[in-house]
Amino acid sequence: MSAKKEIGAKIVIAKDCGFCFGVKRAVETIYELKDKTDKKIVVAGELIHNKNFIERLEKDGIYCIDEDKIKDLEAEKDNVIVVIRTHGATKELVGTIENMGIEYIDATCPFVKRIHKIVDRNSKDCDYTIISGDKNHPEVKGIQSYSHSAETAVLSDEGECEKFVKSTPNCSQKSVLMVSQTTNNNEKYVNCQKIIKNLYTKVKIFDTICNVTGKRQNEAKKIASTADLMFIIGCVKSSNTKKLYDIASEYCKKTYLVEDASEIPESEIISELERAKEFYGSEKNDFTVGITAGASTPDDIIEEVVAGIGKIINSGESTN
Ligand code: SF4
Repeated sequence: MSAKKEIGAKIVIAKDCGFCFGVKRAVETIYELKDKTDKKIVVAGELIHNKNFIERLEKDGIYCIDEDKIKDLEAEKDNVIVVIRTHGATKELVGTIENMGIEYIDATCPFVKRIHKIVDRNSKDCDYTIISGDKNHPEVKGIQSYSHSAETAVLSDEGECEKFVKSTPNCSQKSVLMVSQTTNNNEKYVNCQKIIKNLYTKVKIFDTICNVTGKRQNEAKKIASTADLMFIIGCVKSSNTKKLYDIASEYCKKTYLVEDASEIPESEIISELERAKEFYGSEKNDFTVGITAGASTPDDIIEEVVAGIGKIINSGESTN
């Protein structure tokens, strides 16, 4: 066995990570509202997919409740303000809130709002509306509710697109509107567009992936491709966090998704570092840990995870 080498360890943190524009805007809106009103603030659904942050909101008297519980607010409706979250809401839910006469604030991210408008305006004269994304995600459910097409399909990947075109007869005579969930994987969306364009001649496609998503996915790819270990900080329920994890995993086999510092896999980090000391020759003398975070991960959680990993590997930090 060769003698252990002393190798330097460093952490490379993505320049662009944590709360995105849409999340920051929604959080600021809610806290400004909190300062101005004595009414109870209720968010329709989880404001963002982050358990730690939802608990923090509750401590501050801001409550996230299931969308289908909004109608239970009838008895206290004069003392409540409902907030529509970053992901947006279905047309039906907004209708329910309006019919109940509850005061509400719309904190839907403008990039999501844009998709609602695209679908509302363009689906009227299309036989099919195709949404590329996850059918269970609240953003997608909201987008879907704005469609006027005879059929609206949510297709998660290339395989589902292939199945869809095979199951729709007379493709060439049908018209299609195609949009994507904002946090979709760009490559996947482009592949799906190709499949649809191949068979349908009347296709209107809109590029609706948020540019925050694309930039962060590219940065995750770049960092992961040179990292020995890669960490994605965020909640498994967050779509953009999950996509960062999927992309980073393709480039760095040792990629971990951690929600906060309590989930740092200390023993695995130590054994990887030991392994590197054992086997790296003179051609490599840095052990690199890459870190990025989803758009719904608060800054202090990122800082705690970075500090926790830094303590374990006794590193220097740098940004990508
Ligand atoms: S990821 Fe993009 S679309 Fe989603 S909330 Fe953030 S800025 Fe808006």
